[in-house]
Amino acid sequence: MDKNRELSKLKNSILKFNKYFPGKNLVFSDGNKDAKVMIIGEAPGKTEDKLQKPFVGRAGKLLDNLLKHIRLDRTKVYITNVLNFRPDKNKKPKPDEINKFKKTLLKHIKIIRPKYILLLGTTAAIAVLNHQGPLSEVRGKWKRIKIVNYYLDILTTFHPAFLLRQVTKKRIALNDLYKLKIKLDS
Ligand code: URA
Repeated sequence: MDKNRELSKLKNSILKFNKYFPGKNLVFSDGNKDAKVMIIGEAPGKTEDKLQKPFVGRAGKLLDNLLKHIRLDRTKVYITNVLNFRPDKNKKPKPDEINKFKKTLLKHIKIIRPKYILLLGTTAAIAVLNHQGPLSEVRGKWKRIKIVNYYLDILTTFHPAFLLRQVTKKRIALNDLYKLKIKLDS
């Protein structure tokens, strides 16, 4: 089966979760499905729900800006979230919500088959790395992990929404992104 068909099949299976998020739209992905880099955020916000695209609000603008520093844009990356629906009142996803989407997220990774994954923030680190501790334990470090049926390199950095509140941490996030650029250039 080709990627487009697999992605649309996955999209349909995720639509079934709509019952847990009444009135919310599916926010599936954006970017290039053949990209080497897959970026995984937390969950859509108000703007994302409205436009049905991940990272198009304020945090998304910051993400685009950070990516520009390492010469990446949405033609060169594939972007999705752990949760594909906006949580009620924009609350941080609870463990049971993360668990609900874990299987479909792994399937999503398997279909895209990226070389590198960039995780944004704790929710993505919990979902993909099963990391339960503080973000500082995994942030800025490459992890080689077997996902589904192959190994890939995973880097974690701050979530851009966190960076909007903690502007001084932007330099650290950029430093993390340069680690990704080095891999892409090598
Ligand atoms: N925050 C996220 O984690 N994802 C989005 O799509 C937007 C904001």
